[in-house]
Amino acid sequence: MVFNGSLGSWQSWGHSLTLMGFFIVLNIIHMKLQGRRCLMVYYLATVMSFGALLWFWMKLKFDFSWLTMWQEWVYLIIFEILLYIYVSMLSHDSEIKLQLAKYATHDALTKTNNFAAYTEDMEDLFNQSTQNGQPLSMMMFDIDHFKHFNDTYGHSVGDLVLRRVTDTVQTVLAANDANIKLYRTGGEEFNILFPNYDVATTKVIVDEIFAAINHLEIPTKDGMVALSISVGVSAITTDDKAPMDFYNRVDRNLYHSKRHGRMQITVG
Ligand code: GH3
Ligand code: MG
Ligand code: MG
Repeated sequence: MVFNGSLGSWQSWGHSLTLMGFFIVLNIIHMKLQGRRCLMVYYLATVMSFGALLWFWMKLKFDFSWLTMWQEWVYLIIFEILLYIYVSMLSHDSEIKLQLAKYATHDALTKTNNFAAYTEDMEDLFNQSTQNGQPLSMMMFDIDHFKHFNDTYGHSVGDLVLRRVTDTVQTVLAANDANIKLYRTGGEEFNILFPNYDVATTKVIVDEIFAAINHLEIPTKDGMVALSISVGVSAITTDDKAPMDFYNRVDRNLYHSKRHGRMQITVG
């Protein structure tokens, strides 16, 4: 209005206020009805009524016929419908991409990060650690005698064990630090990466996880059954030349726990 010198035109003010109203109503529809099936109906009703009002102001200002006004209104509606379809296709595509990205980095059964996510994050954190001297610790654990759950109570109870264990670990991690991440790296094997944690600070949270899992009880046909885990913990050292050096040390600690009677934590 400033540029075309129409600040003095009351029809232009009406046109501008209608545009603002249109924008506000579209935002309200977006916030309240996002994802609902009726969205298209509300969107069309809004476009039709505000479109008619906008062209009515134009008619008053430029004094063209009613027929021209309604013709322009129909063109506007057709344009808005095509725009709506195009935007819907774009948002559908980005939703699919987000889903695919989630499937690529998450385990379907436990909804935790998967081995691919672990490899990528480990690579990044290892590089950060070697370049900036940032501490990094890792906890690896394996459910003890897990095969027994499958063999005695069936695969579905085995799956339940995996879900209950991961839920328990995620609860402990959420209560401590959102930067600590759990990964399912094997069937019943898990890794947890602790960025910026040394062994002493890691051990506090490891103990919490260990205790929480030892208190878990799984409902089976024989009543509630307890379970345990064996754990290996270590922190990165300057001797680690590749992520595998670090991983192997934590793995050795885990198997030390297994060989020495299970249900224990080995740090080193
Ligand atoms: P250990 O104490 O030495 O770790 O013994 P374990 O029985 O826990 O270990 P083992 O390696 O003998 O058995 C692991 C079993 O985990 C074998 C495999 O069938 C089972 N498993 C792997 N992935 C899944 C899964 O997604 N669901 C279920 N229910 N079982 C799984
Ligand atoms: Mg096991
Ligand atoms: Mg195992």
